[in-house]
Amino acid sequence: MNPDSRVKNGNCGEKAAERVKSMIKRGLASSKWMGIAVVCGALASCAAGPQAPSPKPPVTGTPSPVSETGPIIYKSSGHAAMDAWRNDFSERAIAAGNDRAIVKSLLENISPITMWLGSSLTEVQTQTAPSDQAEFAKPIWDYLATPLGNTRITQGQQKLISAGPTLQAIEEQYGVDRQALLAIWGMETNFGGFIGRDDAANALANMAVEGRRRNLAETELYALMKILKEGHARRGDLIAGWAGALGQTQFMPTTYLAHAVDFDGDGRRDVWKSEADALASAANYLARSGYVKGQPWGIEVLTPAGFDFSLADGGERRMTAWTAAGLSPIRGGAFETGGAEFAELWLPAGASGPKFLLFKNFNVYKVYNRADSYALAVGLSGDMIVGKGGPVASWPKHIPPLSVAEIRDLQTSLNALGYDAGTPDGIAGRRTKTALQNFQKARGFLADGYPTQEMLAAVRVGGAVTN
Ligand code: CA
Repeated sequence: MNPDSRVKNGNCGEKAAERVKSMIKRGLASSKWMGIAVVCGALASCAAGPQAPSPKPPVTGTPSPVSETGPIIYKSSGHAAMDAWRNDFSERAIAAGNDRAIVKSLLENISPITMWLGSSLTEVQTQTAPSDQAEFAKPIWDYLATPLGNTRITQGQQKLISAGPTLQAIEEQYGVDRQALLAIWGMETNFGGFIGRDDAANALANMAVEGRRRNLAETELYALMKILKEGHARRGDLIAGWAGALGQTQFMPTTYLAHAVDFDGDGRRDVWKSEADALASAANYLARSGYVKGQPWGIEVLTPAGFDFSLADGGERRMTAWTAAGLSPIRGGAFETGGAEFAELWLPAGASGPKFLLFKNFNVYKVYNRADSYALAVGLSGDMIVGKGGPVASWPKHIPPLSVAEIRDLQTSLNALGYDAGTPDGIAGRRTKTALQNFQKARGFLADGYPTQEMLAAVRVGGAVTN
């Protein structure tokens, strides 16, 4: 997907909405992870474009007077299921001790969002758009195009200078390197250029009514109540992305309560308007998630002839084992790991694409979004912003990626052969990769676990085809 082309096509919001629905269907969207970067990136880039729809004003104003007892009476949202959920949730929220005026102020103006609820609930539950499915088979080099593109990197380099003193102070206090913060800031909101256009309570209410993530949405709504109760933000400040994430570094409300900090010292944790607060909050979150300052997220490597690619099995091994196996940094010299002793070998596009040793910080990036591709985009774009360069080896663009249907077919066939690829879902995750690697190993193929047409053909006939 190329978000830039969407802007030109003027249909970005719509496409993103379709993808969200598709993700919800698959249960892939969850928590902050709802920000599967593909979609967030699309929304951010789209919104920055000339044809982006004009922002919807946040729900503002002081709460209407609320009677002190009995259920809160709301004006209908025009959506029966939404009204029913709101009455029930309000009652539970108040019974749980939440302030009636706050509950009402969050929920009185909610309304159905097409992205979440479609034109009817029935539509959401039955619709499957084939074009959405293709998204998940999108090659990683297409995914990386925007985060590693000139525009994003140049903007990041400008922020490296303009926010330099702040980043320096944050590095010293939280022990998180500036390239990590700049990369996440860029990925999440285009450096604060687009922090969302939805009201957080409305986005979460829609998520709750849609149903698949109701508990999570309600937990986040309770967190919004606490944010207002504790006075961290005003009702009108609660602007969010489509999944309810707040501010320049896109914190879900519970994450905000747990990790947001006031770094500029004005007494408020303003992740919306204060760069310093947003960046320090992200640093605090990464630090508490185990970020290790001065260690790389990953290092691109060269493999020697005859290398056993089945070592790229998701397991961590000692650096001494990797060097003994013949791995070396693709840029030359010795490995500079900042003291890290263990790494995992990862082949995002198989043996013929760039290969990386991954360190602990790679997994820390995944607190923001659990997709490996997201963490890779953060790692590489951060490196590029501070002048360390992007991937050296070429991506195998000549090898056509498998469609979702083909990956499902691959999974089914692997399962039938006794290689456990899990429930066929059309997404080539780590389990599928391991199953394919085991198949490749047993049948004498190069064991990189990369799903290609050739491998699909071989698995379909039970491995009778040989190289
Ligand atoms: Ca502040």
